Amino acid sequence: MKPLLIQGGRIVDPGQSIDEVGNVLIVDGKIAGLGNIPAKPDFEVLPAAGMIVCPGFVDLHCHLREPGYENKETIETGTRAAARGGFTTLCCMPNTNPPLDSAEALNYIKSKGFVRVLPIACVTLGRKGEELVFMAHLAQRGVIGFSDDGSPVKTAKLMKEALEYSRSLNLPIIDHCEDVTLTRDAQINEGMVSSELKLKGWPALAEEKIVARDLNLAAQTGGWVHIAHVSTAGSVDLILEAKKQGIRVTAEVTPHHLTLTEVEAIGYNTNAKVNPPLRTPKDNEALVAGLKDGTIDVIATDHAPHAESDKNTEFARAASGISVFETALGSLMSLVQNEKLDLNTLIARMTIEPAKILHKELGTLKIGATADVTIFDPDRDWLVDTSKFVSKGKNTPLAGRTLKGRVMATIYGGKVIYRVTVKSTAQNSSPSMGEARACPERREG
Ligand SMILES: [Zn+2]
Ligand SMILES: [Zn+2]
Repeated sequence: MKPLLIQGGRIVDPGQSIDEVGNVLIVDGKIAGLGNIPAKPDFEVLPAAGMIVCPGFVDLHCHLREPGYENKETIETGTRAAARGGFTTLCCMPNTNPPLDSAEALNYIKSKGFVRVLPIACVTLGRKGEELVFMAHLAQRGVIGFSDDGSPVKTAKLMKEALEYSRSLNLPIIDHCEDVTLTRDAQINEGMVSSELKLKGWPALAEEKIVARDLNLAAQTGGWVHIAHVSTAGSVDLILEAKKQGIRVTAEVTPHHLTLTEVEAIGYNTNAKVNPPLRTPKDNEALVAGLKDGTIDVIATDHAPHAESDKNTEFARAASGISVFETALGSLMSLVQNEKLDLNTLIARMTIEPAKILHKELGTLKIGATADVTIFDPDRDWLVDTSKFVSKGKNTPLAGRTLKGRVMATIYGGKVIYRVTVKSTAQNSSPSMGEARACPERREG
């Protein structure tokens, strides 16, 4: 493989406090140099003037659906979609069929994919909420955490036991916080829109009750709880208070909970049905503030692809979830454009911060690190055309909208695995752009 020189981009690497225009040199799949590196005849050159060049995005929470639900997504389509969204590392949730609760199932996941896939194992066998999986055994097989996502860890007793193990294993228990006794048949956020649409509401309290339970149990046990997809202002307050008390908690928020609200469901738009539901502008604000001040550590997509038949049905029967990989950056850049969040914080929460939770040297452009790099144009407008999605999941409330900020190339382990080729370099807004996907080789073993 020729050395690759990414030329003239704005290099933003929050892990090293770098924000400067320069070149990035990649040799043998590793970052070999940053700064004023001249091109040599044997280099392949990737021009990046006007672009942001940053570490490949790391996603702590997504659903790849395989095994068991290959009609919704496969590891191949999911990881290709991730590459298109600038993600080079994914942590996949275990609510597959069979659920990821054994070493065999985990090996299957790790042997596939066009980007790095790190599995999360179930907390309980078969996700049944009855007995814990063999946590120590699965930890040895390289899982990065445990979660019964889709459901909360059913009882305080199980959560307490899991947290006790989490302390010695130094791995998080990732909880989907939902008191299901308060959300039976719930469809969207409990509030004005649910009353208007006469849909059963999903109250903020149902999340906050389990967040509070988990924080109490983490305090008691010294275990590590990671709160998945925080969606309410009240949860942000609880996590902030817990962090002040030294409780071991980390937390994530999705692009949709940061940028969209319950009004997306008006017209019974099932593509806006998601668990937890889209909330209110006040919640958006609190989540952005929490992300800014570090109460919420990371942005995670909760990419949840579904087949058309899962969504093209009456609201109460429709599946919950949004296909996020391909729109994540574009929607999140609206926070930067509206000056709610600075670019460096946004990138940190998608790169170095999730890498810290994984205890892995990822999410950085440090010399010697694996060359996972995302290049994006912060000013490029593009239309969300779900027919062009690589993901099988076309389920997004953003369909038909124009987003500003587009991933132009993704480099994984030094290889360009996705690239948008621009036909005209003239400085006009003409969308004369073809999209060429580099054909990555399947990684084996
Ligand atoms: Zn969940
Ligand atoms: Zn999820």
